[in-house]
Amino acid sequence: MLLRIAGIIDDSIVDGPGIRMTVFVQGCTHNCPGCHNPQTHSLDGGELVDTEDIARRAFANPLLDGITLSGGEPFLQCEALCDLADRVSAHGLDIIAYTGFVWEKLITMPQALVLAKKCRYIIDGPFVEEKKSLMLLFRGSENQRIIDVAASLESGRAVCAEL
Ligand code: SF4
Repeated sequence: MLLRIAGIIDDSIVDGPGIRMTVFVQGCTHNCPGCHNPQTHSLDGGELVDTEDIARRAFANPLLDGITLSGGEPFLQCEALCDLADRVSAHGLDIIAYTGFVWEKLITMPQALVLAKKCRYIIDGPFVEEKKSLMLLFRGSENQRIIDVAASLESGRAVCAEL
């Protein structure tokens, strides 16, 4: 299945716990002022890549703990990312996703919820320049949360992960 991406980092230690492949998807409509990746906003930029090829690239690195979906806005390409998530989860890799949507909105979007359920953590909310901090683990601004997906779905409210 084809996914539109801006790029891939093969081994990141700043996009979630452990060693991760980070997939920067192409396309975002949030337009957060101060966004660090404005080149990822265009919905028809970047390149189309087969999810099977991305998964194969991940499997080539035996040290990977998981894959992080960043961007761009991953939840604009739920179908292809669900396919990628299924492929890598089957090999024991976990999924973390960044999104400009807040959790409470995300779970009202049917396709997004399907992808969300495949994730271990979701880092939610837009980047807010006034709340920017370099001290935050895996986040850019203080409004963003690291959501523990399983705990949140079970309890019916956003539960922040303790990392
Ligand atoms: S959601 Fe992310 S990629 Fe999109 S504008 Fe905001 S910071 Fe940039």
